[in-house]
Amino acid sequence: MAFAITQNCCNDASCLSVCPVNCIHPTPDEPDFGKTELLYIDPRSCIDCGACADACPVDAITPVSRLTPEQSIYADINADYYKDKPTDPAWARPRFPAPAVSELRKIDVAIIGTGPAAYYTAQALLRLPRSRVTFYDRLKTVGGLARYGVAPDHLGTRRINEHFRSIFAHPRVSMKLGVEVGVDIDQQTLSERYDAVVYAVGAENDRPLDIPGLDLPGSISARTVVGWYNGHPDVAADAVDLTGVRSVTIIGNGNVALDAARILTADPDDLASTSISPHALAALRKNRVEEVVVLARRGPEFAAFTRSECKALLDRPHVDVVVAGSPETVSTIDALPPAAPASALRGADLVELGSPHSARRIVFAFGRAPLAVHGDNGVDSVLVGTEDDSRSISTELVLLAIGYRGTPSAGVPFDEHSGTINNVDGRVTNHDGTLVAGCYVVGWAKRGATGGIGDNKVDAELTVDALVEDLAARSPRRTRDWHRRLSASAKTLEDVVILDR
Ligand code: NAP
Repeated sequence: MAFAITQNCCNDASCLSVCPVNCIHPTPDEPDFGKTELLYIDPRSCIDCGACADACPVDAITPVSRLTPEQSIYADINADYYKDKPTDPAWARPRFPAPAVSELRKIDVAIIGTGPAAYYTAQALLRLPRSRVTFYDRLKTVGGLARYGVAPDHLGTRRINEHFRSIFAHPRVSMKLGVEVGVDIDQQTLSERYDAVVYAVGAENDRPLDIPGLDLPGSISARTVVGWYNGHPDVAADAVDLTGVRSVTIIGNGNVALDAARILTADPDDLASTSISPHALAALRKNRVEEVVVLARRGPEFAAFTRSECKALLDRPHVDVVVAGSPETVSTIDALPPAAPASALRGADLVELGSPHSARRIVFAFGRAPLAVHGDNGVDSVLVGTEDDSRSISTELVLLAIGYRGTPSAGVPFDEHSGTINNVDGRVTNHDGTLVAGCYVVGWAKRGATGGIGDNKVDAELTVDALVEDLAARSPRRTRDWHRRLSASAKTLEDVVILDR
């Protein structure tokens, strides 16, 4: 019997470091890492110790024998990953991280933001015994997207906030909440006060879409809907008006689109015991959305959602999931490999956009680009087109879910093209390519708005490695000391660290 990793997997690889037999892959040094939907347990090598289940921050790991009927597919999904791979050596050589140079002295780092990227940055820094971290957040509540981005019905994923708490309460951590960098304190002051400043500010805007009508009432960002159902302090209780809304069209088919589609068509009684905001729950009880169209400009082979999120829509008894497109759309779905996200839609009925329906439904529309949003005083339709034709879909609410984009932080160079802080591998750079001393970036502000919570762990560790390396190089006294000690008696860097203690 083995354990299996299921839908909630956040990819942060906490399970990998505790597995005694190296049976969880891909590991951060394997090419697939960050590209697979989940991490996978090799049932051929798993010794059933359960260490990974204890370490998992989001409760995604379960013994195969205890998978629920809905989860049972994950036994195969885990095993499938290893189909054409050799069995691992049962007791792979353990790897120990090299002692960090900054153990030699105290370092004091400011982290701007308290979301997942900020958390993993602090976790890596606090492994250095004499480090201190000060978090700054313009909000008075910590957690960033882990608190205000994860859908309320994703109970397992939301549990990661409990893990975050241990870092925020760490004795070497200070919290400056309700303090906005750029308004209440500037980058110059921070750089004088701390050895390093790490920006973990995420991506707070939408990618732009240049079509007419997006400014009409009834056309809003999916980001607003996410903030609304999660009670984000910046999003007013009436920012989403569902009055009279029967049909919603979501532009884009990433996981944000699927989260919004699932919540808008959920049974409010199922949401009542979650952390959903009271105003969103009241609105969902009062108004019944009958149809959500998830609109993708490309075919199913390019679906941006993950298979597990798509599957979660299929398991609900009172909501039909159907496909709109050409007959080739169905054959493309049928030909997709099982691991492809849209393969989850195999067997779904093909319908016409706007066709009558009796049950609530989610329509995955493929190969139709949004051309315009129409209406007089508010949205009443969206014009969508293929290469050959265009048609109007009746809709009362349009949600833009085409991805997030960063916004500039005052005093920090910003790359308008990518919507990220200008950087090379986490080191902030000026536009002429020179380094901004002591300034770093992690997470979506560094690499753009892709990846889930756990993807930030390795990303943050790489930036912390760069930070530590730079601090070591910046201290002439310490560098001189190391050289002297190295040449005097020590043979290796490990020896130097021991000598210094
Ligand atoms: P995303 O995954 O980047 O998806 C963006 C979608 O917008 C794609 O379908 C894309 O289509 C479409 N799009 C982009 N530009 C467009 C345009 N000009 N016209 C029409 N469509 C356009 O973005 P996201 O949904 O915001 O998610 C961001 C990240 O957060 C993702 O990595 C996601 O997995 C993660 N996330 C995960 C979860 C979860 O695990 N539950 C929840 C939320 C978010 P093309 O492919 O054609 O460009």
